[in-house]
Amino acid sequence: MVQTVTQIHPDAPKPAPRRTDAATLRAEILEKLAYTVGKDPLVARDHDWLAATIHAVRDRVIDHWMNSTRDAYAKSAKRVYYFSLEFLIGRLLRDAMSNLGLVEPVTQALKSLNVDLDLVEALEPDAALGNGGLGRLAACFMESMASVDIPAYGYGIRYQHGLFKQKIKDGQQIELPEDWLAHGNPWEFERREAAYDISFGGRVETVEKDDNSFKHTWRPSETVQAVAFDTPIAGWRGKRVNTLRLWSAQALDPIRLDAFNRGDHVGALAEQNRAETITQVLYPSDSTEAGQELRLRQEYFFVSASLQDLVRRHLKQFGALESLPDKVAIQLNDTHPAVAVAELMRILVDLNGLDWDAAWALTTASISYTNHTLLPEALETWPLHLFERLLPRHMQIIYAINAKLLQEARARSASDAQLASLSLIDEHGGRRVRMGQLAFAGSHKVNGVSGLHTELMKTTVFRDLNDLFPDRITNKTNGITPRRWLFQANDGLTRLITDAIGDKVLDDLDSLTELNRFAGDAGFQQRFAEVKRANKIRLAREIQERMGLKVDPSAMFDVQVKRIHEYKRQLLNILEAISVYNQIRSHPEKNWVPRVKIFGGKAAASYWQAKLIIRLANDVARVVNADPAVRGLLKVAFIPNYNVSLAEVIVPAADLSEQISTAGMEASGTGNMKFALNGALTIGTLDGANVEIRDHVGADNIVIFGMTAEEVAQRRAQGYDPRSVIEATPELKDVLDMMRAGIFSPGEPDRYKGLIDVLYGSDWFLVAADFAAYTKAQRQVDDLWSEPQRWHDKAIRNTANMAWFSADRTIRDYAREIWTVPSM
Ligand SMILES: *Cc1c(COP(=O)(O)O)cnc(C)c1O
Repeated sequence: MVQTVTQIHPDAPKPAPRRTDAATLRAEILEKLAYTVGKDPLVARDHDWLAATIHAVRDRVIDHWMNSTRDAYAKSAKRVYYFSLEFLIGRLLRDAMSNLGLVEPVTQALKSLNVDLDLVEALEPDAALGNGGLGRLAACFMESMASVDIPAYGYGIRYQHGLFKQKIKDGQQIELPEDWLAHGNPWEFERREAAYDISFGGRVETVEKDDNSFKHTWRPSETVQAVAFDTPIAGWRGKRVNTLRLWSAQALDPIRLDAFNRGDHVGALAEQNRAETITQVLYPSDSTEAGQELRLRQEYFFVSASLQDLVRRHLKQFGALESLPDKVAIQLNDTHPAVAVAELMRILVDLNGLDWDAAWALTTASISYTNHTLLPEALETWPLHLFERLLPRHMQIIYAINAKLLQEARARSASDAQLASLSLIDEHGGRRVRMGQLAFAGSHKVNGVSGLHTELMKTTVFRDLNDLFPDRITNKTNGITPRRWLFQANDGLTRLITDAIGDKVLDDLDSLTELNRFAGDAGFQQRFAEVKRANKIRLAREIQERMGLKVDPSAMFDVQVKRIHEYKRQLLNILEAISVYNQIRSHPEKNWVPRVKIFGGKAAASYWQAKLIIRLANDVARVVNADPAVRGLLKVAFIPNYNVSLAEVIVPAADLSEQISTAGMEASGTGNMKFALNGALTIGTLDGANVEIRDHVGADNIVIFGMTAEEVAQRRAQGYDPRSVIEATPELKDVLDMMRAGIFSPGEPDRYKGLIDVLYGSDWFLVAADFAAYTKAQRQVDDLWSEPQRWHDKAIRNTANMAWFSADRTIRDYAREIWTVPSM
């Protein structure tokens, strides 16, 4: 029996359910406009209406929020804590309205005030506190955990500026600061009472105790404060509202008045600046030592604050730490929060006096870890000297964990090579701390994010740890929330679906399979095509407005939007576009399928190769779009500043989804799921979740090409020679020759030398090797497009068979097999 220390007061008021009719909302929005925003409706600007609307919707979210929190207390429920350096949540107003069933009445209420909801909600800034798929996954999971009624907290960082805002100037990416907080953030609640001290540096004092054990006391040299900001995340139908708690860094003493009054105005504020730096930006460049240190400070900062917070909550409610794993499940989203393993040990052993073995049992039973990448350069390690300087006590704890781990491995007669591979310390070159190994050692479950990725984990990075702990690795294929990515983003398709199979699909996505009956139905196909066309017209308008480019909504919209990375192979797609450009000009008589190639995505600020790929896409667009010989049959568009809101417009408008990573390199992908759910056909490799998408939608309804992961590994092992492949593929050679001749970079023929040299040199991502298979697959796509009935049949079957990729399914699997918490 767990002892319950804190209980909700029985007389605590339970909010009465509010009315949700348009007249009530109208009155509330007007009241918020006057008394919260402080504006007269006569002079209110669109931003004021947005703020007033958010506040009116927010009140209803808060009612559900309080009920959810009480409910978790009353039931002594186990809570899930999702630790993530990124939460790419996007806009919240539409999400909250939709999940609370308020879209209609709010639309009517605003209309009666001559305010257009669509216009106003577009002013809400994207909360761009993430980089790509990993951060969006965390956001989808937050919504799904609320929807399947799991009490959960998301823990992360409240970046003053998220990732940069991308502008394209003269075809090149430039990075500008993202100022999402410029107009304030009506969704968040600052919690001054939830503030914790976070320390760095200094030394460790060790004294021997009576029982011959040692007591370690960390004497840090620097301390900052973590202050909580809470954002409510509403689940479907408002069933549960969970908390996203983001930490902001502040100095303990914001200003040193003595220094200030001496005239040292800069020095007086130095401490505040140094503290605030921690939560300024996501992914500060780590190309300098200072940049690396800042990242490690960020990671430790949010992990320590979050653990202090959840331990405090646990002790307050349950009184003792022995029950921690019964009431707390900590999920580490990738290795960024892996220092949690050492920090929780420190809290249990140093601060709460538990003995090592008991603390280790509680730690590993509470923590689990999700791996997101096998790319060696993305596996986090820290120089030992940096780690030791910043976190001296944690370094000792990691040594102790490692000693026990190696001892256990030796006892099972591991070889020296195996010991070196599973050690938490990399001894090659400069010694480094390996966060992946630390996260693995400190977790009871380690999951991959697709079937293929999980199998590869077992044979690559974690081969030796898997031998030692064969039950630890498990698969949890990623998912996406159907609320945002279908119901909200694609109103037209949602109406079509509910008209056909009824409203139950809104609560039971699995019933989507009933759509298969309509796949061949001419009338349904026509309505499906009309919905797609309307979505394409909306995107075409967006492209026209943003970039002044006209695209034809009857052309095939062929879309690749995602972070720009060599392994994702945007380059393969661009090279194919150039090749088609050549063929349209050399064979004008052929029946070319009109296509618009749409690209979007950010490149990391210091990733030169990726930035060159963006430049090439823009250069090719300039040449192709202006060439009259193309007769509009091919258009190329690179849409700047890809983010969640843009994805919500692009995804429903796509005909073809490009998922063409080098097999074995994309852990899962979630963009692939969004597109297929919205009725796009996928052209893709057998990589990540593409494999499972094929299994669900059927091999006839997806276009798969190229080498498998196994073939990629073999080819590399054999010694791959891209030059001979290029020489044997004339269309590809022509394309590269054109690039070398400066066709796309007049006056600067060397502009793309960096890309060409890599293709001829190592071509690690096997662009040349897959080129022929890719172009062949694209012509297969053309043939399908030329038979609209077949195309629509396949597109409908994609939507019909994607329900399994709902994040609700993923979350229920985590709940059952990793967290052991009940779900709805
Ligand atoms: C879904 C999503 C991603 C992930 O896309 P992948 O194709 O899986 O890499 C990245 N960014 C945004 C804005 C997204 O919505």
